[in-house]
Amino acid sequence: MTIHHPASTAQLPVPAQSSYQNRVADYWNAEQNPVNLQLGMIDDLYHHHYGVGDVQWSVLDESDPERRREKITAELHRLEVAQAELLAGRLGPLAPTDRVFDAGCGRGGGSITANLRYDCHADGVTISAKQAQFANEQARARGVDGKVRYHHRNMLDTGLPTGAYAASWNNESTMYVELDLLFAEHSRLLRHGGRYVVITGCYNDTYGRASREVSLINAHYICDIHPRSAYFKAMAKNRLVPVHVEDLTAATVPYWELRKEADHLVTGIEDAFLTAYENGSFQYLMIVADRI
Ligand code: SAH
Repeated sequence: MTIHHPASTAQLPVPAQSSYQNRVADYWNAEQNPVNLQLGMIDDLYHHHYGVGDVQWSVLDESDPERRREKITAELHRLEVAQAELLAGRLGPLAPTDRVFDAGCGRGGGSITANLRYDCHADGVTISAKQAQFANEQARARGVDGKVRYHHRNMLDTGLPTGAYAASWNNESTMYVELDLLFAEHSRLLRHGGRYVVITGCYNDTYGRASREVSLINAHYICDIHPRSAYFKAMAKNRLVPVHVEDLTAATVPYWELRKEADHLVTGIEDAFLTAYENGSFQYLMIVADRI
C-alpha cells in the first residue's frame, strides 16, 4: 500500500479552525455589550456569564434614574460574581503550585477568581484574540501575570501540557463545541484525580428537542446548545466521572428577571431565557466530575 503525504505540512492551513469557529471568534472580537463591560468595570472582574442567587429587589425602588441604573448594574454583577465563586469553590482544594485550565475564558474573570481563591497558576484559552489580549492586560494590572496567563487558542486543541492540570472548567462555553472533542482535551490536560467543572445552559431531554426559545438563544449567540444527556455520555467516554450535579435553573431565574428591568443593559435575549426556563425546555446546570 502506498500512502501519499503532502509534500510539506507547511502547505496545510494553520491553525486548524473551522469557518464556524472563525465566526464565533468574530463575534467575541467585536462584542462590546454594556452588560459585559459595565458590570466588569465595578471591580475589574470581567465575566461573560449569568448570575445565581436571590435578588435584592429594593434596587428598583431608587428614585434617581442614574443611581437606579448603577444599583441594578452592581446587583447583576454581585450575582455573576456569586456564580463564578460557586464554580471556583468546586475546583479545590488546590495548592499554590497547582495549575488550572479555564476553557473558553472570555475576558478572564474566572481565572482571576480561581487565582484569588487558591493562589494557583491559571491558563485561560479563548478563540478571540481581543479577549486574550484584554485578559492579559487585566492580569498585568493586578500583578498576577506571573501566574495567570491567557492564550488565543482553540480549547479543543490547546497545545498545553498533558496531565499538568489539577482542575479545569467550562463556564458557559461548551455550547460552541463538540463535547466529545472538548472532554477528550480536558481529559488529556487533567492529572489523574483532577477535577472538572462545567456550568452551562442545556436543553431538557424530557421536553423533547430544542424548543423555539432554545433555538432563538442559539441564533442570538451563534451557538448550539446541547441536551443534558449529551454531557453525561461524553464525560463517560472521556474518563470524567460526575461526583455532583446541581440544577441551577431556579437560582438563575431571579438574575434574568432583574436583567429584564435593566433598560441600560438588556440585549434582547432576556425573554427567550425566561420563557425557556419557565416552559421547562431549558436548564441551567452545574456538573462536577473527577478525572479517573
Ligand atoms: N467563561 C467565560 C466566558 C464565557 S463566553 C466567563 O465565564 O466569563 C464564551 C467564551 O467561549 C468566549 O470567550 C469565546 O471566545 C469562547 N469560545 C468559544 N469557542 C471556543 C473555542 N473553540 N476555543 C476557545 N474558546 C472558545
